Amino acid sequence: MDQQTEPTARKRPPLPEWTLEVVEAFDVTPRMRRVVLTGDKLDAMSYRPGQALVLAMPQPEGGTGRRDYTIRSFDKARRQLAMDFVLHGDTPSPSWARHAAAGDVLQVRGPRGRTVIHEAADWHLFCGDETCLPAILHMLETLPENARVHAFLEVGGSDDHQKVPEVFAASVTWVHRDGTKPGPNTLLLDRLAGFELPQGHGHAYVIGETSNVRAQRRHLIERGMDKVQISSEGYWRPGRIGGHDHVDD
Ligand SMILES: Cc1cc2nc3c(=O)[nH]c(=O)nc-3n(C[C@H](O)[C@H](O)[C@H](O)COP(=O)(O)OP(=O)(O)OC[C@H]3O[C@@H](n4cnc5c(N)ncnc54)[C@H](O)[C@@H]3O)c2cc1C
Repeated sequence: MDQQTEPTARKRPPLPEWTLEVVEAFDVTPRMRRVVLTGDKLDAMSYRPGQALVLAMPQPEGGTGRRDYTIRSFDKARRQLAMDFVLHGDTPSPSWARHAAAGDVLQVRGPRGRTVIHEAADWHLFCGDETCLPAILHMLETLPENARVHAFLEVGGSDDHQKVPEVFAASVTWVHRDGTKPGPNTLLLDRLAGFELPQGHGHAYVIGETSNVRAQRRHLIERGMDKVQISSEGYWRPGRIGGHDHVDD
């Protein structure tokens, strides 16, 4: 759903607000920048891996605009959380992350989000592009070692790979765009088409560019997965400013 059309969200109880301060920022990979933030009251925050915060992101023309970013990690005792920003261009969020320096202040609300681990599932299938690495890697880090996992992760190239928990490394397929721009494509859909769905009652987490998410969701439903077995959400799409797209048809 676009941020311009969010009437249902307004009916929900307001999300907790937090004032955060940048501790440090550094590149995790050439196109992914991590910003670590702290807040006096942050030890009161609880969340589930996969959930995101709504950032009041400074805009070039002044004021702020809403942007969603996933909690990549959280250290309650140190009152620190990290978020990873894809450096996809000169838009407000990557620009802010590039220049983030210790002491910078950021207002956020949340956490929120339904793309979280379904513990009862027999197996877990993750699909997403680089905007989803914070969510998928954090979810993988919290799964038990004997979890049955399959992940298809779309990135620009091998320098975008990140460390995956050793026990799941063989279950992760990195899919490279090899020079093409991020956006609508069939790279992950093609991989899914060649993937045999495991036996048992699994759960799929399908996130990323909206049209890709929609196509992958439909494909999994056509293959016999029930709608409730698929958590899906459009994290971005060309031309959209902030917001998120529900993909649940
Ligand atoms: C729940 C949720 C969690 C998310 N978590 C993360 C996260 O942890 N890390 C992360 O990097 N992103 C994440 N995203 C995606 C991020 O919120 C969007 O990419 C957002 O639009 C970025 O804001 P911006 O200021 O860069 O660009 P905007 O001002 O929102 O967009 C300007 C234009 O940039 C283009 N654009 C936007 N995002 C991308 C992109 N990723 N690649 C290429 N072009 C793009 C579009 O054409 C858009 O119209 C998440 C989104 C959701 C809904």
